Amino acid sequence: MAHVGAKQILSKARQEGYGVPCLLAGNLEMLIGAVQAAEAVGAPLILAYNAQVTPQIPMHLIAPAMVKAAESACISVATILDHGADLASVEQAIACGFSTVMYDGSSLPFEENMRRTHEVVRIAHAHGVDVEGELGAVGGSSVELGYGYVHGEFTDPDQAVEFVTRTGVDVLAISFGNLHGLYDGAPDLDLARVRAIAGRIAAPLAMHGASGLPDATYAAVIGAGISKINYYTAMARTVTHSLRDVLAAAEDTDLVYHHVIALTIERFASETRRLLHLLRKPIAAAD
Ligand SMILES: [Zn+2]
Repeated sequence: MAHVGAKQILSKARQEGYGVPCLLAGNLEMLIGAVQAAEAVGAPLILAYNAQVTPQIPMHLIAPAMVKAAESACISVATILDHGADLASVEQAIACGFSTVMYDGSSLPFEENMRRTHEVVRIAHAHGVDVEGELGAVGGSSVELGYGYVHGEFTDPDQAVEFVTRTGVDVLAISFGNLHGLYDGAPDLDLARVRAIAGRIAAPLAMHGASGLPDATYAAVIGAGISKINYYTAMARTVTHSLRDVLAAAEDTDLVYHHVIALTIERFASETRRLLHLLRKPIAAAD
């Protein structure tokens, strides 16, 4: 239908009370599986490139495929640079044609994060590209498996208002007990904090580290005001376990690599379909 900025997709989702997954699409199997599923369900989607998770796949090679997939999809698709670390990577993403860039200055002092994010917004908006900023640090890691070991710093609602007003970001990633990677037991999410922030800013809110939560939790976080759901680790594990079983059972068969490609696409698509249905359940299911 259209390759659009994340703001358009997320503003509609916020208004209508559902969540939109942001899925890593750093290789063709992930990309094709995600788009196939979204088209089958008829749901919008955000496709992300993360240089930390797939450093072997250069942005300039995969980005054109992501953009082309978004342009030719029969649903609305946004493309985003995930966790842009500096101005150079943001500028590369804009040149590659992404509709949205994330600049992550969350490890910087508040004023410096605002100053640099504002500069990214100025450059990106001049190209018609949306910007996601992050305030308060989301801990954990999606790169190495293991339970979240870096604890985040929760987002302050007053600072969130000032940050969005002064930077002009279109989407804000917040920290309220969420962690990248795997959770060690049930996460302790501060949904009152999400409601407090969502009640005071118009920009849609993003939850990073949203994978592997109990099913009912998604409706709860969406009901509290989260619109963008960054989801990776749980899906990557499920697909990997499934492939491992198939490969282990295939020792004496004539399974070859292109069968594995087809299977990988199919598994990413089925996991994406499951997630899309989960995020589009009515808010009333939450509590
Ligand atoms: Zn993240």
